[in-house]
Amino acid sequence: SGPREPRYRVVLLGDPGVGKSSLVNLFAGVQERDLVEQHGEAAYERTLTVDGEETTLLVLDIWEPEQRGEESRRRGQCLQVGNAYVIVYSITDRGSFESASELRIQLRRARQAEDIPIILVGNKTDLVRCREVSVEEGRACAAVFDCKFIETSAALQHNVDELFEGVVRQIRLRRGGK
Ligand code: GDP
Ligand code: MG
Repeated sequence: SGPREPRYRVVLLGDPGVGKSSLVNLFAGVQERDLVEQHGEAAYERTLTVDGEETTLLVLDIWEPEQRGEESRRRGQCLQVGNAYVIVYSITDRGSFESASELRIQLRRARQAEDIPIILVGNKTDLVRCREVSVEEGRACAAVFDCKFIETSAALQHNVDELFEGVVRQIRLRRGGK
């Protein structure tokens, strides 16, 4: 099946509690879970077949909360190592939506010259009655920040496959059809 596909590093960003680990666990799957513990880091690797072609993603669930407003070296590294980013907020938490915008700005600053794929994710759509951020706001934010947008529910396993397939497609778009 041709030369070995490269592996792309996908880093999840977002406030604590928005559902990053839940989304990654679904990506990893119960059977195929391959948890790599390195200095407390969680990395999950899986090869996806999208549009008839295989691509391997190494998804890194390593983002940590800010320590007293201090920009940690570790956070800085997170912003450097990704080939693609998934910025997650909870639709039930406006603060996390504002953080997502801030993260997009930090990422742009850290990777200025690069056109990195970024997917903005509004998670927890099952919590309908607690919604604080509308779909329209999410979509508008993604348009302003020039990234893709999807709403998911890790709890209902809704749109989670679509999210990671979208990541693969965004990566491929930037490989110039190679
Ligand atoms: P992280 O801190 O971003 O990694 O968030 P977690 O994945 O640990 O999730 C934080 C909490 O939110 C946990 O109690 C999850 O069970 C819950 N959670 C995550 N995703 C969803 C979702 O889509 N819907 C609901 N109702 N709860 C969720
Ligand atoms: Mg987590």
